[in-house]
Amino acid sequence: MGPGPSDVDPRITGALARPTIGHLDPAFIQLMDEIKQLLQFAFQTSNELTLPISAPGSAGMEACFVNLLEAGDKAIICQNGVFGGRMKENVTRAGCEAIMVEDEWGSAVDTAKVAQAIAAHPDAKLLAFVHAETSTGVQSDAYALCQMASAAGMLSIVDTVTGLAGIEVDVDGWGADAVYSGTQKCLSCVPGLSPVTFSQAAVDVIQSRQTPVQSWFLDMNLVMGYWGGGAKRAYHHTAPINALYALHESLTILQEEGLEASWARHARNHEALKAGLETMGLQLVVEAASRLPQLNLVSIPDGVDDAALRTTLLQDYNLEIGAGLGALAGKVWRIGLMGYASNPGNVRLCLAALENTLIGQGLSLAGGKAVAAANAVYASAS
Ligand SMILES: *Cc1c(COP(=O)(O)O)cnc(C)c1O
Repeated sequence: MGPGPSDVDPRITGALARPTIGHLDPAFIQLMDEIKQLLQFAFQTSNELTLPISAPGSAGMEACFVNLLEAGDKAIICQNGVFGGRMKENVTRAGCEAIMVEDEWGSAVDTAKVAQAIAAHPDAKLLAFVHAETSTGVQSDAYALCQMASAAGMLSIVDTVTGLAGIEVDVDGWGADAVYSGTQKCLSCVPGLSPVTFSQAAVDVIQSRQTPVQSWFLDMNLVMGYWGGGAKRAYHHTAPINALYALHESLTILQEEGLEASWARHARNHEALKAGLETMGLQLVVEAASRLPQLNLVSIPDGVDDAALRTTLLQDYNLEIGAGLGALAGKVWRIGLMGYASNPGNVRLCLAALENTLIGQGLSLAGGKAVAAANAVYASAS
């Protein structure tokens, strides 16, 4: 129950064990086409250029930046946690200028500040932001931000590594241009793949570049020859065949459950966790309107030994929760309820383990109340 990787559904680990076949085998090409369609479903897009990059979420991030930017371009980057900082690194390493819009860690991206940055830098090529900040458990308004970018004639890049399948992701409805995700958060697949999707406007920019993409491996013009080529597919790199079996299975599970049902499940388990935490006097840090149900930022009460508590959870309960990052280190826990791991059993285990461990550290809590509060939420929801 950390910030990812989440627990992998046994159906998915089962899929991994299927025999490895060739990356141009007709059966594999059929599987690639199905994965593209399933990703279009998950992202809610009809974008033709929708595929999994053969590397983790960070590679999806890099693919978006290096394909859309050319040296000398300007990009507006919103930072309200760890991952906006990595976006900035991608921009400057591509020889471009990053205009930073910074917000407090734990707050959503402030659209008023973004509007000011757009007005001050109308020549920026794109606006990039993190939809679901895993370092803080904050959701930003992807629709508003993408619309602001397109109204200003800029492209948008959206990081929804933690968002996809946990909360609404609506690529076409947002009018987003380049969106990347990861497999090991709410898709509950094995780590190591990054689903991406590019709008037609983004594809036009990629196809009319003056200079080649600095990364040969991530150059979408070349990757398209393998993933997009229809019957004319050519070798670019050896696809991670077994990991793609796993992704196909994970997306099939998502389709069976339904997008709305998956979001509702994440919301319900979050409500039950929150109810239990509150009976122990534990506070959620992020304001209600921008909380992520799949990543809960919990304030550590005074007098509690953070490291000792997390060690006890791991050793005595086989339960991992996330530590705070950056300025939040030692001040918060990050409790993940992602994908397959977002279930009532985990909520109850986490609450009981936290309650017992906090009592063990000397807090005066009445044992058993936290799980009862979660059960009350489940009873009222069913
Ligand atoms: C996990 C994560 C990433 C990076 O993904 P990796 O698979 O670890 O490379 C990027 N952005 C966000 C918001 C994430 O949560």
